Amino acid sequence: MDNKLITVTSPLLPSLDDFIPMLKDIWDRKWLTNNGHYHEELEKALADYLGVKYLSLFTNGTLPLITALQAMRVTGEVITTPYSFVATTHSIWWNGLKPVFVDVDEATGNIDPEKIEAAITPHTTAIMPVHVYGTPCNMKRIQEIADIYGLKIIYDAAHAFGVKVNGESVLKAGDMSTLSFHATKVYNTIEGGALICHDEATKKRIDYLKNFGFADETTVVAPGINSKMDEIRSAYGLLNLKQVDSAIENRKVIANKYREALKDVPGIRFLPDIEGVRHNYAYFPIFISKEYGISRDELYAKLQQHNIYGRRYFYPLISTFSAYKGLESANPANLPVAHKLADQVLCLPMFATLEDEGVNRVLEVITSKK
Ligand SMILES: *Cc1c(COP(=O)(O)O)cnc(C)c1O
Repeated sequence: MDNKLITVTSPLLPSLDDFIPMLKDIWDRKWLTNNGHYHEELEKALADYLGVKYLSLFTNGTLPLITALQAMRVTGEVITTPYSFVATTHSIWWNGLKPVFVDVDEATGNIDPEKIEAAITPHTTAIMPVHVYGTPCNMKRIQEIADIYGLKIIYDAAHAFGVKVNGESVLKAGDMSTLSFHATKVYNTIEGGALICHDEATKKRIDYLKNFGFADETTVVAPGINSKMDEIRSAYGLLNLKQVDSAIENRKVIANKYREALKDVPGIRFLPDIEGVRHNYAYFPIFISKEYGISRDELYAKLQQHNIYGRRYFYPLISTFSAYKGLESANPANLPVAHKLADQVLCLPMFATLEDEGVNRVLEVITSKK
């Protein structure tokens, strides 16, 4: 049997033939960063593609989270989920704020809106949910709670590039949303990200904050950070934007193959299809329970014996890391569902160029357990 390495992900790469002339342009212009030609073009093209009005490019997907909290002067406590990538909680910590973990919904892995109210204190000022694996949060319910208590909402939409509900971008929800364009994501600029807001004044403030706080040549309005996207990655991003729809189509085909082959395997559950959602198939997580016969970690190891790499994503939970485990809300008794998912989850290989043969090899190991 073919034993070629199958990685869990592989980046979407633009063609070099298309990229090189753009590099020549950049060399000619000698304008490498600070709102260059391709930067401006990409900001507009992304806002168009995503169906939002105000989008600011960033150099990665973590700094927009940090900047969103700063832009709205969030203080005190921020309610969030332990079932995410560490950057979500780190952004709260980097602002000197206290993360408060709330348990998740078993069906989707997203924050459970019905558990948010119990975590609100007089110090709570914001909620930071995550559209985990690209599945939209219950945005309506979260907004209702935020409205009642006067809280801001910042969605970590790092997984939700291009995701729509009934034709509307999920990025329109809440006060702000962030994206990551890291190499492992559905759409990448190698490293990169964006912050989406809903009015021009706020976008202006965000653009100051990502450039050291400079409002003009001589005015610094805040201790901003440097998080600018350069021309080379902006050009790369423009090319990838042209092929992201076909990449998502390929992912969909793969997801459907996985679903079809695994739907009757006892002890394996995957994410539900949600009516009206245009998904991006960013990941293909499966959740393995006792009835499967072998544990998640055994399957993970078995796949590796066949040179196939899954990813236990998200495991361990953020709330178990040393920086956060001392928080009251990090107590495992407060987060039973998140712990269960973290112990059961395995993300299968999923990327646009994954071939049939690869999918079949993955499925063969899972269904034979050999
Ligand atoms: C990837 C990711 C981030 C961080 O993005 P970077 O671009 O790697 O800084 C934040 N949150 C989530 C949920 C992510 O998956």
